Amino acid sequence: MDADGWTHCSLGHRHWGLVGAAGLLVVHDGPDGRRFLLQHRSVDVHHGDTWALPGGALGHDESAEDGALREATEELADLPAGLVHLTTFVDDHGGWAYSTVVVRSPRLFAADDHGWETGPEGFAWLTADEIAAVPLHAGFAATWPAVLETIA
Ligand SMILES: [Zn+2]
Repeated sequence: MDADGWTHCSLGHRHWGLVGAAGLLVVHDGPDGRRFLLQHRSVDVHHGDTWALPGGALGHDESAEDGALREATEELADLPAGLVHLTTFVDDHGGWAYSTVVVRSPRLFAADDHGWETGPEGFAWLTADEIAAVPLHAGFAATWPAVLETIA
């Protein structure tokens, strides 16, 4: 069931997703190190023209894992087989939470579906150093160091 809409957490932020939101962090460990699949956000969305994870509002009674996979499939097109769930990092703001669902992919895959939520730079497999050098969505930037440490 749909739970799209704006709400406020107890920290006073305005958030999208009445019952919380989730994003999918796909990691790939290749010969040149670990890469992360990030989405360039369209200027038409909240905090546009920044980089973040594909994701969005959870539905009622939808798990973070199901929601993150559903949103990523909508925004990226079909995900490859063989994804392994590593962990789910929950950033609980009180009355609202953002879950980062971390999965490992056996390969780099093309994610070239450019829906309206995706900016002109599309999707990219970035290293941690590259992520440190691009403009990040404020919410993603706030949780990224803790997520990175969790999965190190
Ligand atoms: Zn908040």
